[in-house]
Amino acid sequence: MSAVGRVDLIGGGPGPLDLLTLRAWRLLTTADVVVMDRLGPTDIRAHIRPDAELIDVGKHPGHHPVPQHEINDLLVSRAREGKHVVRLKGGDPFVFGRGGEEVAACLAAGIAVDVVPGISSAIAVPQAAGIPVTHRGVAGAVHIVNGPAGVGPATIAALHDDSITTVILMGVAALPRIVADALQAGVPSDRPVAIVERGHHHDQRTTRSTLGAVVIDAGVAGIRNPAVIVIGEVARAGLLLSLPQLTGDAVR
Ligand code: SAH
Repeated sequence: MSAVGRVDLIGGGPGPLDLLTLRAWRLLTTADVVVMDRLGPTDIRAHIRPDAELIDVGKHPGHHPVPQHEINDLLVSRAREGKHVVRLKGGDPFVFGRGGEEVAACLAAGIAVDVVPGISSAIAVPQAAGIPVTHRGVAGAVHIVNGPAGVGPATIAALHDDSITTVILMGVAALPRIVADALQAGVPSDRPVAIVERGHHHDQRTTRSTLGAVVIDAGVAGIRNPAVIVIGEVARAGLLLSLPQLTGDAVR
């Protein structure tokens, strides 16, 4: 073990271990310390070194068992002990994952740090429900937002534009307010909405609705976290069955 350790932030993807990259897997299985989250791969004890320290700092919405500054301090202190620390994060570390803050904390402390990208739920959870977030001829841009931050002008503009897909993470609690603000701003109430819970897990579930009906439909279905909310034409049920067959290099 070297005198000064290092930290690798690795993207864990949406849950299944085989959605980790090979690089993330190599780092995970050789680390001295693994600091993991609630989302992403959680069943990892059998795959890390038997003598590795496993620390769960999993967060629940609205309830943060380990504050971010303590996670930052933990990464730095273990690395200062000469350990190779792997910070396993759900999805991609830099998509609403606070990965930037952890990198900054390591750099400020003079600790070597690197980031391995991961498969983000923003793209892969809609995919798991058969929703291509940019489907040629239907949507040409994706607007990814964080539900608790609410609906600013950029999100209203995205929701108004039927060629933009809006993807909302951490959006279950904020859904009624997001919908009310969008309808108030004149976004059409028939805009398709899909809510995909527990994407890439065996109990994945998709609820299809429209902007005007989704609050009631989500209540009836009992939608819970973790879920990705997709608003836009690509969320329409049967999208991939109803379009004319594309040919040649148009099929991508
Ligand atoms: N860095 C992560 C996102 C962290 S924010 C990424 O790139 O995926 C946490 C939010 O991600 C959750 O509230 C939920 O909206 C979404 N999420 C993560 N994993 C999910 C899963 N398997 N199914 C549904 N939503 C998921």
